[in-house]
Amino acid sequence: MESLSNNKLTASSGHAGRMPVLFLGHGNPMNAIEENEFTEGWSKSVMGVPVPDAILCISAHWETGGTYVTAMEKPKTIHDFGGFPEELYRVVYPAPGKPELADEVRRLVSGSMVRPDEKWGLDHGCWSVIRHMYPKADIPVVQFSLDYHGNARYHYDLAKELAPLRDRGILIVGSGNIVHNLMKVAWHRLNEEFAFDWAAEANEKIKSLALAGDHEPLINYRSQGKSMELAVPTPDHFLPLLYVLALKHENERISVFNDKPVAGSLTMTCFKIEQD
Ligand code: ZN
Repeated sequence: MESLSNNKLTASSGHAGRMPVLFLGHGNPMNAIEENEFTEGWSKSVMGVPVPDAILCISAHWETGGTYVTAMEKPKTIHDFGGFPEELYRVVYPAPGKPELADEVRRLVSGSMVRPDEKWGLDHGCWSVIRHMYPKADIPVVQFSLDYHGNARYHYDLAKELAPLRDRGILIVGSGNIVHNLMKVAWHRLNEEFAFDWAAEANEKIKSLALAGDHEPLINYRSQGKSMELAVPTPDHFLPLLYVLALKHENERISVFNDKPVAGSLTMTCFKIEQD
């Protein structure tokens, strides 16, 4: 009897404990097909993590009026960028979807309506990072959109409603960049580890607040001075960070990796939240 119940326990609790949450700075779409220090950081971030039942990805690149969650069985790979080598457009990331997870998300979120989506798929904010973590594409992936009507507080509060998923084997990944200003890119230093002063300052500020668990100034990022204004000119690449931070339990550890600038006005800084 004892061994039977043990077996049952093992079978039903493949995800004993809480899954980590990741914020991944995705940067240049070419990272999808390169092997570099950033892609290495992404793949290392899931080493030792139990195999998830599914991934829920909040990508900077899916903004919608209202909130949507991908609900198809087979999400297509979206090449949502222009002017890159042909090789990048040939990449397909054939991870299955998981309509049951889409339903679960819709049930969990009571503060606002989440609608099922059958048209989107996986955008590059999602597949360019996840293919380095799970190259076999055998883990189902569901995307969660960013409602462009909602302010930062709205998104932070909404994210908290997703917390139970962490205890159900779901790996939640936010994909954006904490410093991301494409108008200020130093095009002649595109692949260099280089930051403008304001970018370095904002990166340090965001990083230290995140590591300290001081989320209020991050939610109020628009009133944090000039460097933050330049670092976060639009909310899309920053909001996924707020989703990830909102999912941190008080007694959990947060660590930083890939903390480097590129091209002057972007930083690749990533965070991992996990149980001690
Ligand atoms: Zn992006």
